[in-house]
Amino acid sequence: MANVAWIGLGLMGNPMSKHLVNEGHTVKGFDIAPQALQTVAANGVTPTNSIAEACKDADVVYSMLPSGSDVYEVMASPGGVFSSVRPNTIIIDCSTTGINYAKRLHEEAKKAGVVFVEAPVSGGTEGARDATLTFMIGCDKQYADRATELLRPLGDYIAYVGGAGTGQAAKVVNNLIMAVSVTVNCEATALGEMLGLDMKAFFEIATRSSADNWSFRLWNPAPGVVPTSPASRGYKPGFKTWLLAKDLSLALEAGKDVGFKLETAETAYSLMTEHAKDGGADLDATSLVLHLAKKLKQ
Ligand code: NAD
Repeated sequence: MANVAWIGLGLMGNPMSKHLVNEGHTVKGFDIAPQALQTVAANGVTPTNSIAEACKDADVVYSMLPSGSDVYEVMASPGGVFSSVRPNTIIIDCSTTGINYAKRLHEEAKKAGVVFVEAPVSGGTEGARDATLTFMIGCDKQYADRATELLRPLGDYIAYVGGAGTGQAAKVVNNLIMAVSVTVNCEATALGEMLGLDMKAFFEIATRSSADNWSFRLWNPAPGVVPTSPASRGYKPGFKTWLLAKDLSLALEAGKDVGFKLETAETAYSLMTEHAKDGGADLDATSLVLHLAKKLKQ
């Protein structure tokens, strides 16, 4: 059994770290939010007061943080993970950081004499809870098998994509499709409601028709249609609006880097940021439907 450090214990990190406790590992956790630490203590994670304390004697470090800048700060700043672990320790970051931050982190890790693995995930909080996440690994090939083994308790499809930045490239492209789907699902739901459709009956039609898509089925934007969806619990996240907007911005950045203007992503990004600024940032992203309905009525 291993000594594990887990940094970032929010909506995803909380259920993911719990699976490692259940496997019999000793898990020490750190999060800047005291509430997050309290919640995971009930799962058997030992709360700590600093990154250094969590990483002391760790055989492996996992992280699940909001954005690339957060991960960079947690990993590479003085007192961060890279300077707190033993040489050659493997560090698996599951956050969505974007390609450029991942590449910088691989470089900093090499300089610090530790092993960095990017392993962004897909599958939502449902996948985190059920250990059915898909992982997209980017790292030196020699560490791929070890990283796969360390992620096995958390997911059911673990793909080695390639070297530095490639796991994030797969994640950014995946989330471009997902985020645009969420946006159009919200737009279609707002329109359906304006047209007087019974959205529960429409769900039965659409999920047997050409409109069917993963986020429409799991994260249906209309309250009461899917009992387990964020919409049916007052748009409590789930996947926060600002994080979805961040993922769209990562796709736009990736497009820009290769000279490709992503026009659909631009529209989705602008709607999501507009909604975030209008008070929806920390609600589930499917609450965009409320913002669109408000705009339609104006
Ligand atoms: P979250 O906001 O619920 O959790 C992030 C946690 O990180 C919070 O508890 C926060 O306090 C903590 N944190 C922030 N800065 C920190 C720091 N400097 N040191 C220690 N802790 C810090 O977010 P989440 O939904 O768990 O998402 C985490 C990552 O997973 C993001 O990159 C997101 O894009 C990605 N993701 C989320 C989902 C989803 O459905 N929620 C799905 C796939 C991927």
